[in-house]
Amino acid sequence: MGELDHDDLHQSCHEACGVFGIFGPGEDVARITFFGLYALQHRGQESAGIVTADGERLTSHMRMGLVAQVFTEEDLLGLRGHIAIGHTRYSTTGSSKIYNAQPIIVRSPTCELAVAHNGNLVNASALREELVEQGCQFRTTTDTEVIARLFCEGPGTHLVDRIRLAMSRLQGAYSLVMTTKDQLLAVRDPLGVRPLCLGRLNSAWIVASESCALATVGAEYIREVAPGEIVKIDERGIESIQAVTSERQATCLFEYIYFARPDSVLNNRLVYQARQEMGRELAREHPADADIVIGVPDSAVPGAIGYAEESGIPYREGLVKNRYIGRTFIQPDQRLRDIGIHLKFNPLPEVLAGQRVVVVDDSIVRGTTKRPIVRLLRDAGAREVHVRIHAPPMVHPCYLGVDTARRSELVAARMSVPEICEYLGADSLGYLSLEGLVRAVRVAGGSLCNGCFTGNYPVPVQLDLDKFAFEQARLGEREGGERKARVSMV
Ligand code: SF4
Repeated sequence: MGELDHDDLHQSCHEACGVFGIFGPGEDVARITFFGLYALQHRGQESAGIVTADGERLTSHMRMGLVAQVFTEEDLLGLRGHIAIGHTRYSTTGSSKIYNAQPIIVRSPTCELAVAHNGNLVNASALREELVEQGCQFRTTTDTEVIARLFCEGPGTHLVDRIRLAMSRLQGAYSLVMTTKDQLLAVRDPLGVRPLCLGRLNSAWIVASESCALATVGAEYIREVAPGEIVKIDERGIESIQAVTSERQATCLFEYIYFARPDSVLNNRLVYQARQEMGRELAREHPADADIVIGVPDSAVPGAIGYAEESGIPYREGLVKNRYIGRTFIQPDQRLRDIGIHLKFNPLPEVLAGQRVVVVDDSIVRGTTKRPIVRLLRDAGAREVHVRIHAPPMVHPCYLGVDTARRSELVAARMSVPEICEYLGADSLGYLSLEGLVRAVRVAGGSLCNGCFTGNYPVPVQLDLDKFAFEQARLGEREGGERKARVSMV
């Protein structure tokens, strides 16, 4: 996404986890999973982990940090087996702590299961309370553990039966990749909120959040995991079970706008092409009298190219992004904080000076970084700055796996478009309409989630749901916690 949105998007509307799994006898499954996670790094930068299975035991390695920081060659050599699952995390439920890193492993007398989750349950609190009443002691503060325990501890003799039963109780978004000692499983919620796809690498099967991860490891894209489907892969082959039939689908629109990589395919449409089309729609809806079009790198560039093509205004690169800026634990001093935006972008005055500039971005969340971008462009000599956003105003938070700001922090929930324009210091501001966005995505509007734009979520949401709700519960359980655990966590 652009950056205020890069401001915004990278700081307050973080991507929400990437999952990867492989069933590959004879393959170096840990190494392939490492590179799969590398391709999914954009979906979560807080922690990463891999669990392997060799038919007898599960082995895990996970740490806080980026994929490249978490694994050494030695770590990968220690991860043995013919099955592997991996996870990159950005926290949507539970804080960013090592005890919340994934994949998580649960063990009971009859089940051993590792789970990697992308999404967010909206009824996790109620389910968790019920499990605690039954004697479960939770080790993490994530909704993923709620899912894992239901799958491991629920009624039913076989794991697939327990998953099917639990799916009828889980509400919200969950794309899951799981492994037992000898089976790889993939599960997608009945609404299909978060993406999940299936691929083939020689005789190995792969499941990944996005098809870009398949391409990275040289695998062939086969298809999406269907909403409500369980895919089970073991030495007997692959089995598809349509566990829950959904009345509707609700793919997250933000996957198209910002989260997914442009080289991924969602619903048979290349994300890059969808973003270009958003730019074309935006140019039709909000034309501008301008000399050049620029995009806020990297995610808004396809939209800017689309805007330029449709409007006939030449596309230029006016901002250069430091692609290696990631999460840093080193705090800048005040002077550096004051020039903080330059850590991410530098303008090209030779391109911008004297020009009337259309700057395309993918969204505005809080608005606090778009303002410095407009200032940066003016300081570099831009005569006029016309901001164009290839998404509608974000006026509601997400409860389905994206950590947006609270409603009170969303600039579009507090201000009208002209007020935001003034706040940004722009000459004009135009947002793409929801209708234009849906046309660009080319999926029927009824099959998409648009909750953060309209407040109409595909499942009932608890409006005061707190990402850290379980932290208190964890404390309480620990303090009063002599309840006997029926399931031990590893
Ligand atoms: S509320 Fe918005 S960000 Fe969340 S799933 Fe729906 S479309 Fe995506």
